[in-house]
Amino acid sequence: MTDDARPALLRPTILDPLFAPARTLPGIGPKMAPMIERLLGTPEQPARIVDLLFHLPQGGVVRKLLGSIAEAPPGEPVTLGVTVTGYRPPQAGAGKRPYRVLVEDATGDITLVFFGMPGSRVEKMLPLGAHRYITGRIDLYDGHRQMVHPSRIIDEAALAALPAVEPIYGATEGLTSRAISKLAHAALERLPVLPEWQDPAWLAQQNWPAFADALRAEHRPENAPPPLAEGATAPRPPARQRLAYDELLASQFALALLRARNRRSPGRANAGDGHLVQRIEAALPFGLTGAQRRAVTEIRADLASDRRMLRLLQGDVGSGKTAVALLAMASAIEVGRQAALMAPTEILARQHFERLGPMAGTLRLRLLTGRDRAAERRATLADLAAGTIDIVVGTHALFQDSVVFRDLGVAVVDEQHRFGVHQRLALGAKGQAVDILVMTATPIPRTLALTCFGDMDVSVLDEKPAGRQPIVTRLVSTERLDEVVAGLGRALAAGDRVYWICPLVAESEFVDLAAAEERFADLRHSFGDAVGLIHGKMPGPDKDAAMERFARGETRILVSTTVVEVGVDVPEATIMVIEHAERFGLAQLHQLRGRVGRGAKASTCLLLYRGPLGQVSRARLEMMRETEDGFRIAEEDLRLRGEGEVLGTRQSGMAAFRLANLESDAALLQVARDDAQLMVQRDPGLASPRGQALRVLLYLFERDAAIRLLGAG
Ligand code: ADP
Ligand code: MG
Repeated sequence: MTDDARPALLRPTILDPLFAPARTLPGIGPKMAPMIERLLGTPEQPARIVDLLFHLPQGGVVRKLLGSIAEAPPGEPVTLGVTVTGYRPPQAGAGKRPYRVLVEDATGDITLVFFGMPGSRVEKMLPLGAHRYITGRIDLYDGHRQMVHPSRIIDEAALAALPAVEPIYGATEGLTSRAISKLAHAALERLPVLPEWQDPAWLAQQNWPAFADALRAEHRPENAPPPLAEGATAPRPPARQRLAYDELLASQFALALLRARNRRSPGRANAGDGHLVQRIEAALPFGLTGAQRRAVTEIRADLASDRRMLRLLQGDVGSGKTAVALLAMASAIEVGRQAALMAPTEILARQHFERLGPMAGTLRLRLLTGRDRAAERRATLADLAAGTIDIVVGTHALFQDSVVFRDLGVAVVDEQHRFGVHQRLALGAKGQAVDILVMTATPIPRTLALTCFGDMDVSVLDEKPAGRQPIVTRLVSTERLDEVVAGLGRALAAGDRVYWICPLVAESEFVDLAAAEERFADLRHSFGDAVGLIHGKMPGPDKDAAMERFARGETRILVSTTVVEVGVDVPEATIMVIEHAERFGLAQLHQLRGRVGRGAKASTCLLLYRGPLGQVSRARLEMMRETEDGFRIAEEDLRLRGEGEVLGTRQSGMAAFRLANLESDAALLQVARDDAQLMVQRDPGLASPRGQALRVLLYLFERDAAIRLLGAG
């Protein structure tokens, strides 16, 4: 969202300086501006001053603490006091060879290496026989210790003038840590005096500085970090803890507001005597699992109460969420109301519709998507308004203003992470106190569930329907592609169906597409018309058609970019091939793998990788081979990649943390949650001075959904 789209009127003006574009800072010229954008901006939103301030350094180097050549650990920044002892100019005509300078201290010698720099300049910086202080990283090259392009070369006087500690930032191509540091200093100058939103007693107890002081302490560290015992990790300094807590409090406070608002608005009993639910359940071709039964009971208890339901139904792929959703919706129909089920894509909406049909008995179902013909759509809208449709299944199209229900009781939202909190609220507004059930197949670790869905109650389907075959997962090097293709030939002959997922080559969908098309052509060469292709750039109807051909068995190998990721169900598919598996996130691999193993036949997942694999990549793929437990995989994914990635936060606008880290700040998260709940109970209108300050905090961390709610009163 751009600055323009978010009315500045609503934001307390005190924050304006922080939301000004970063490029307005002194020292950012036309050359630097794009680098800043690359580091901190997004296509929708240019980098702002607050983004710079929240780009905290990863650590500090102690400038005056000198190392010795013999003892400096390779790969870590160090400052050395050295004497220049010799020059090694590049051989004439030898191409791009570096200029080398030999230096020494009392403990040994080392070579400084300069590429593409005139010898005269190097010699001026490092006169023969002079004493200089150099900072940089030592590495080993051909067994010899060297330092390529020291980040700083100064003399005694300059050393004396240096700050004791210099912060080290995550730099980007072309933008050095020191340049970022300078900008951060300039940004600090724009810091307004903000009201204190933390409880003073708690601040005092923690010995935490004020917000502005904490930012200053991070960007202009004055004290050297205390030396660490071998192998120990640094405790987070108070300033850093304070900032993390500010962010956690903002997120928990936003969720507490949403939850309170939800609780305050009275609900209606959306469950009747259970006759319809029982009838549908009895007619299902299977018995409910224990987990499904528990979830249905929890949901019906919510529905029957006069509070509004906001419940998350979490269950791995194939755990049977659809049947649970149907029984929830049937409850509302029992009392003469309607239900809506919203899916994130056309394919999924269609699939839900087709699957619900046979299970739904006498219930009147209808599909509503953005692709309906005008006459069809008019009829659907009229029937919804008249109440002659019990359950409508659809996509985002359900949000449109023209969609009016006679009386919507329950809304089910599938695959939550594709939708944001806002949409959840929008759907809830389609009726009077609509009960909302959100379903997600992304296993979410507990800490994350708390931060993202803290405003919801949770039911978990932790049990798979009986009779599912385990999926055998194998790691195969791409060098053995021929064998894999030969294997597919045998599988096809035996009547199997195969998904072939093409690599995530780049961020760009076009590149992904090229890879998929190439593989499609290859496989067609071997298997002819049995091969189909589906990708994200296809028009919707073509996608559906490709999917349907595969579901009907007209094509038996479906080459795909990652569009099959969410929810698609073809029980006959038993082989999943994922190319360049090392490039996918674990959670995504898990989702993809969940597309097979849905029928009674044993399934296989081949993770094709291009070697050599690094240690982490190998560990990740081996994890996939070892377990099918989505929660275990999600925990591991969280550990390896951080929370933002796991949830795909950039797109979804969910809680991504910039200052906090869910691993090291997990204890603070719990405190923030309690603190937030207490504040919302005591001062729901945010009228007290602390309430006013917390309002500023919500804007500072851009908790939009909660802000909107404040605006609505
Ligand atoms: P997901 O949780 O991934 O949405 P679905 O609801 O699509 O899972 O269910 C996956 C498959 O399992 C469907 O074919 C469904 O009919 C079947 N199924 C659901 N519940 C059970 C059960 N209790 N026993 C056997 N099969 C079931
Ligand atoms: Mg599903």
